[in-house]
Amino acid sequence: MRRAVIVGAGIAGLAAALRLGQDGWHTLVVERAPSRRSSGYLVNLLGPGYAAAERLGLLPGLSTHALGVFTTVLVRADGRPRFTVPSDVAEATLGPRAVTVFRGALESTLYQAARDHAEIRFGTTIESADQDADRVRVALSDGTAEHADLLVGADGVHSATRTAVFGSGFRVDHPYVVGAFPLTGSVANGSEPSAITFIGPRRTAAMIDLGPHRSSAFFTYRCADPVADLRRGPVDALGAAFGDLGGGVPDALRQLGEDPSGAYFDAVSQVVMPQWSSGRVVLLGDAAWCVTLFAGHGAALALAGADQLGAALRRHDDIPTALTEWERGLRPEVTRRQALARRGMLQYAPPSRFHVRMNDLAIRAITLPGLRGLVRRGIERANR
Ligand SMILES: Cc1cc2nc3c(=O)[nH]c(=O)nc-3n(C[C@H](O)[C@H](O)[C@H](O)COP(=O)(O)OP(=O)(O)OC[C@H]3O[C@@H](n4cnc5c(N)ncnc54)[C@H](O)[C@@H]3O)c2cc1C
Repeated sequence: MRRAVIVGAGIAGLAAALRLGQDGWHTLVVERAPSRRSSGYLVNLLGPGYAAAERLGLLPGLSTHALGVFTTVLVRADGRPRFTVPSDVAEATLGPRAVTVFRGALESTLYQAARDHAEIRFGTTIESADQDADRVRVALSDGTAEHADLLVGADGVHSATRTAVFGSGFRVDHPYVVGAFPLTGSVANGSEPSAITFIGPRRTAAMIDLGPHRSSAFFTYRCADPVADLRRGPVDALGAAFGDLGGGVPDALRQLGEDPSGAYFDAVSQVVMPQWSSGRVVLLGDAAWCVTLFAGHGAALALAGADQLGAALRRHDDIPTALTEWERGLRPEVTRRQALARRGMLQYAPPSRFHVRMNDLAIRAITLPGLRGLVRRGIERANR
């Protein structure tokens, strides 16, 4: 039986554990956090991400968490509505082979499926790794050592596996910060369940309010010194960047203040590497290619990457050959998504009021019946 050690129990790590386990690998996942990390904002799985979820057998589990389609209300700084994007527009643009869930629901579904196939050890990380032609030896922070055929670094954008095996200098930091956290109470002021989005110069605040366990908030903004803002923590930093807004924002920030423990709060960085593997060590997901939230496909790429990695390892007994072939197949899509993310920054954090107005026009355009089909075909082409 082939053995793999996977570092990180996020989307990429759990998907790899599931896929390799389904193919008969003996798999150990080590996760630095003391327990599961089931928070995060929206994930749209379509195109290759949906196909990977289908092949991994995740769709029935995901369907119980699916958010369906909902109305999005674009609001002014004081919370008054500017215009509404009806739910049937979202339905028409996403198409039938798509599922929308919170990242936490995707993590939960993966965890439930992967734990039958893998040992998952929390509160544990990698200390060092060395390899020869036949195996890789991994020293872990709990004092144990593992010998494996394959080491998968799926430990996210700040990957310790990447630093240990490939060195540093692959992270490209952008001047933005992102925060996302679950909402425990309503912020919709009695209106129908919906998404409420404010997009202004250099920042976006978005809240999905679909009822208990189906509500979450997301904030991103441009800032000169993300490291300093991260040091302040989400309550202070998001309060300073969004405290002037009205509508549901004060309520969401108050809920964050009451329990900041589930918040995801990080700088925005891409990871750009000339090669994702070295011998028997491979990086997967954000650790290898973080595209950022601005691309909107980080989770889908992590799922598709894990599924395709399993397929390549099935085709080739020789691990370095499998890894090289896998990377050749996936890299063009990652390069394309990273380029799209750089354009996406203009949408989530428009540099000026002019850019905000251009965004508005683009969003309003997709609500026009004649243009929906066009937008949908564009999305289908982009996700083929
Ligand atoms: C709690 C959480 C919430 C998120 N919310 C959002 C969001 O709202 N919007 C968005 O765009 N992106 C979000 N992300 C990032 C998003 O999940 C990824 O961009 C994408 O899904 C790719 O997944 P990944 O598995 O490569 O990385 P991640 O999902 O980031 O998972 C990496 C995992 O590795 C673990 N880890 C890190 N370092 C080590 C180490 N040294 N040893 C062992 N384990 C380690 C982390 O704790 C984490 O569980 C979130 C990530 C997390 C962890």
